[in-house]
Amino acid sequence: PAQNMEELVSLCKRRGFIFQGSEIYGGLQGFYDYGPLGVELKNNIKAAWWRSNVYERDDMEGLDASIIMHRLVLKHSGHEATFSDPMVDNRKTKKRYRLDHLVKEQKPAVQQAVADAMEQSLDNFPALVQALVKKPAQASAALISAGVRDAFSGEVGDWTEPKPFNMMFKTTIGPTADEDSYGYLRPETAQGIFTNFKNVVDATSRRLPFGIAQIGKAFRNEITPRNFIFRVRELEQMEIEFFCTPGTDEDWHAHWLEKRLSWWEAQGVSRSKIEILDVPPEDLAHYSKRTYDLMYDYPSLGFEEIEGIANRSDYDLGSHTKSQSELGLVASVEENNDSVAKLSIPHPDTNKPVVPFVIEPSAGVDRALLAVMSEAFTKETLENGSERIVLKLKPHLAPIKVAVIPLARNREEITSVAKAIKADLQSLGLGRVLYEDSGNIGKAYRRHDEVGTPFCVTVDFDTVGLGGEGKTSDPALLRTVTVRDRDTLAQERVQIAELNAWIRSRLI
Ligand code: ATP
Repeated sequence: PAQNMEELVSLCKRRGFIFQGSEIYGGLQGFYDYGPLGVELKNNIKAAWWRSNVYERDDMEGLDASIIMHRLVLKHSGHEATFSDPMVDNRKTKKRYRLDHLVKEQKPAVQQAVADAMEQSLDNFPALVQALVKKPAQASAALISAGVRDAFSGEVGDWTEPKPFNMMFKTTIGPTADEDSYGYLRPETAQGIFTNFKNVVDATSRRLPFGIAQIGKAFRNEITPRNFIFRVRELEQMEIEFFCTPGTDEDWHAHWLEKRLSWWEAQGVSRSKIEILDVPPEDLAHYSKRTYDLMYDYPSLGFEEIEGIANRSDYDLGSHTKSQSELGLVASVEENNDSVAKLSIPHPDTNKPVVPFVIEPSAGVDRALLAVMSEAFTKETLENGSERIVLKLKPHLAPIKVAVIPLARNREEITSVAKAIKADLQSLGLGRVLYEDSGNIGKAYRRHDEVGTPFCVTVDFDTVGLGGEGKTSDPALLRTVTVRDRDTLAQERVQIAELNAWIRSRLI
């Protein structure tokens, strides 16, 4: 695996996986563009997730909801009121920081002072953060008394009080400048699933238990985007809302934890690299009955959240439904007099209307890509003493499946065969196959190692029965090609007639 973030960042830029957004104008912080190979890797991760969670199950439907949503959706979801982080401004530099990040960066003694100051009412830092949102005045008083603010700046008075900052992007809709014509870019894909619950049930006749899966962009105006694509302002999520009968939720929660861990394993992110954080009750989001955070050991960052698997009780559908008081909700929800839909479903045993509980596995595509790359990243010393970087990606994730290389790019006899082989392999539908005549073969191999191409197929003089480079051609090699294996470096001669089957059996 990668030893530090720098080597990943450098590979991503060098080989065209990821670029800084708006780079030619100086870049825009928290936004990244996926290049020719990044888009393939990302698509392959999403396809693997969709295959496993939608196609291979019999209790799931897919959805692609719009990104901009009615402000009432985000009001009743609770995001207008609570989707915020405490932040402080530095008056001197005019820079804004997320308070928890700022404290994390301080010397251990200062961090300790924060912890001590909070001890009476709060026993750990995430709780402090929550308290800052709820009671910013008291919490910041405690911080000041701990001398923490001094330590941030070296000078009293440079920092503002912590203030909750809503992270949603707001945007105007339509040509009017009227105060109410605004909406939000969704901060999570989940809300599109809840607002379409009734549509999906009516259209598919689903009964409990079943889930709705969605992959898509979400936007968060993070105060301090950082760590490459780990924390970005435009992100992509792969989310499932799994609806079940109250009382079966804990079993389904356990089911999804297990399913998700085995999915990560199949993408090359082994269980030994993921810690399961059973989020302590005092740190749970207000809607959550219980949450498992999957923490991946990112290079340079250590264990950070890659996916959250939450039991959200009946909070979401309960918040968005009309006739709340008739439905016997368990979660405490804000009153909703705006919704026109009753978001209940017949209980499978009694047929009485029930608002299902929701289990939500929510993973970030960008964080997944970072983890997958980090696990695959390998530095090897070869027998001849040289070093090679190789991305040992699972074949189904590799951006390029096969590179077809003509050994001489100006010999039509060779290039035409290579092009025909490329077209043939491409027709297998396994993903991108590249016709590669860009330079010398050693360089091509090195490049394909670095981007994780599982196989390089070389068409040479022997393939087409031509003598070359002072040799006569070997008739036994006619209509054969050399296939080089990325991981073992083994080179095998394969009949062109058998190549499709040979490659297919190794890529699926
Ligand atoms: P964090 O605590 O790191 O800010 P979160 O708890 O706010 O994350 P969730 O709201 O649970 O994250 O979102 C679900 C998933 O979406 C996360 O596990 C993560 O993979 C991804 N995600 C959330 N915020 C970001 C971001 N700013 N950049 C990239 N991915 C993100």
